[in-house]
Amino acid sequence: MSANIPTIKLNTGALIPQVGLGTWQSADGDGYKSTVEALKAGYTHIDSAMFYRNEAEVGKAIRESGIPREKLFITTKIWPTDLQYVEETFNKSIELLGLDYVDLYLMHWPVAMNHNGNDRWYPTRPDGSIDIVDPKEWSYLDTYKEMQKLLKTGKVKAIGISNFNKERIEKLLADPEVTVVPAVEQIELHPLLPQQELVDYCHSKGIAVEAYSPLGSTGAPILSNETIVKIAKKRGVNPAVIAISWAVWRKTIVLPKSTHAERIKANLQLVELTDEEGKEIDNIHKLLGGPKRLVDPKWGIKLFD
Ligand code: NDP
Repeated sequence: MSANIPTIKLNTGALIPQVGLGTWQSADGDGYKSTVEALKAGYTHIDSAMFYRNEAEVGKAIRESGIPREKLFITTKIWPTDLQYVEETFNKSIELLGLDYVDLYLMHWPVAMNHNGNDRWYPTRPDGSIDIVDPKEWSYLDTYKEMQKLLKTGKVKAIGISNFNKERIEKLLADPEVTVVPAVEQIELHPLLPQQELVDYCHSKGIAVEAYSPLGSTGAPILSNETIVKIAKKRGVNPAVIAISWAVWRKTIVLPKSTHAERIKANLQLVELTDEEGKEIDNIHKLLGGPKRLVDPKWGIKLFD
């Protein structure tokens, strides 16, 4: 089935579909099933990550689909504990996916963690704090420079960042050894956290912006918001469609996640919001006491200050 999903042109010249399937908390078979359902429903864009532990099953669904590779847009990401080992980690990702290349490789968070500790993903020190690498030893700038090298292999079509605040992007762009402007910045964006200033800044630098947790993440709290429900009723659609269509209206790329076939399908049914509706959704956070982050990094450092 083909769907009429709008695209955005990246600074590499490639087109990225504005709606992609999110796959966090979609593993142990769910990553496979949801990717199969998404590709059947007409999605051509899938967002995975080493951290999601689903690259192998997502890749299997992609390969089995029979859809020509060039018709798909596949993203994966490097996790903080791997930031010092870019080439090795990327090769592992591509092997797990079973693909010749990825369309986009993102740095998941701008902080390097040591690879040791009992927990592979959040290694702790004996005092219980998270084992973060001293930035003088290795920083996100070092990782990004290693990611630039991957572009030369042809196995990565574009590189980008995630969870960077404006200051970190400025620092990145000011570094003389940074020669490639990130194609994408992936951040938490939904009506309770529109981050308009950061979105505008990225756009002014030619960086496309991807909205993660567009429904408010686990349990989809955005879908019970009064304004969203009101507009959904007026338009005769599911509230999820309104939250996703708002992200498209504001020229971002949006990554709704679901493991249910009917929701995966429904989330692709966009409506064209009027500017009045879009602006009303822009204002939701103001009515609720200001912006609210729903996905907080477990290691608790103030990455967004
Ligand atoms: P979402 O905002 O996409 O919400 C997912 C939740 O919404 C799940 O509980 C899902 O339930 C539910 N849901 C989905 N569609 C519907 C629907 N139509 N009606 C009712 N409920 C629905 O959350 P995520 O945090 O997963 O964000 C989306 C994606 O963004 C991730 O999967 C990941 O790819 C990316 N991401 C990136 C991060 C980063 O640091 N770069 C951080 C967080 C996310 P169910 O599955 O049971 O249907």
